[in-house]
Amino acid sequence: MDKKSRVLVVGGTGFIGRRIVRASLAQGHPTLVLMRPEIGLDVDKLQMLLSLKKQGARLVEASLDDHAGLVAAVAQADVVISAMSGKHSHNLLLQHKLVEAIKEAGNVKRFIPSEFGMDPSRMVHALEPGRITFVEKMDLRRAIEEANIPHTYISANCFAAKFCPNLCELRTLLPPKEKVHVYGDGNVKAIFVDEDDVATYTIKSIDDPRTLNKTIYLRPQENILSQNDVIEKWENLSGKVLEKIHITADEFLASMKDIHAGTDRINQVGVTHFYHIFYEGCLTNFEIGEDEAEATMLYPEVQYTCMDEYLKIYV
Ligand code: NDP
Repeated sequence: MDKKSRVLVVGGTGFIGRRIVRASLAQGHPTLVLMRPEIGLDVDKLQMLLSLKKQGARLVEASLDDHAGLVAAVAQADVVISAMSGKHSHNLLLQHKLVEAIKEAGNVKRFIPSEFGMDPSRMVHALEPGRITFVEKMDLRRAIEEANIPHTYISANCFAAKFCPNLCELRTLLPPKEKVHVYGDGNVKAIFVDEDDVATYTIKSIDDPRTLNKTIYLRPQENILSQNDVIEKWENLSGKVLEKIHITADEFLASMKDIHAGTDRINQVGVTHFYHIFYEGCLTNFEIGEDEAEATMLYPEVQYTCMDEYLKIYV
């Protein structure tokens, strides 16, 4: 194999971004991390950047608001990976500035935009207000494709930390102690992926001609689980049986309007995303097409983490 491609990570201090930086270093890529001057007095962010530097990454200073600086940063890389936050509305759209810079630099062999979740192209029917995530991600796809930028889209399904230890419950990251709310009959299959594995598969794909201009789905076979499966795993590990409270889809969607529960916009977005995953089965109700690929099939050498193992730290 030729020299390893140089990787620039934008959003490198974020939840998935820092893992992508580490995976890139671990797989031997010269790795650059964008350091934005806007971090100001955010000492935690700076320390995260410095810890990535200590692990071997090179920090490159540029702002998304400085086109020339961004072009100069992009020009130093063969591959650009964006791990831009999807939390607040319109952050994802900031990536259009990155697309403009990639277009002008003209040297980038692969761009991975910030997706890492449900495939937005399969979510045209998504409910408001969560729909915005998919609309913005599709908007960016159009810009990438119109500019003929070589790309790979990563559909990572559920980050384990956000969906598994809480037994798929919203508004908490910890396992419930006494009772768990079950979506419908609890049998709809979802897919859970250790976020370090998300990063590993992402980096595996960047120099691979089989993933060029394709969507790659992460579907670790052992981690295709229903909510009931996840609850059972936790009950076996903790030795405690939880009370199950079943909620219908209508009840769940109505919870968006429950102001007493302090439901704000981010929570409402969460409700609609969870609805699509756990009632509709949007992660598993389709076959992967000819023009797409599945990561564990492409990279069988990766030993992914199973959810039994992942959950042990929460006991
Ligand atoms: P984070 O919220 O951790 O943020 C990532 C980075 O975004 C930050 O570190 C920062 O980069 C950058 N950023 C945030 N706000 C701004 C801003 N105003 N201007 C410039 N940069 C900004 O992101 P996540 O890791 O949670 O999300 C990344 C992707 O993963 C998103 O596409 C999201 O939709 C998806 N996701 C998927 C989940 C799943 O379960 N599959 C769950 C959660 C997210 P910097 O380092 O430069 O400061």
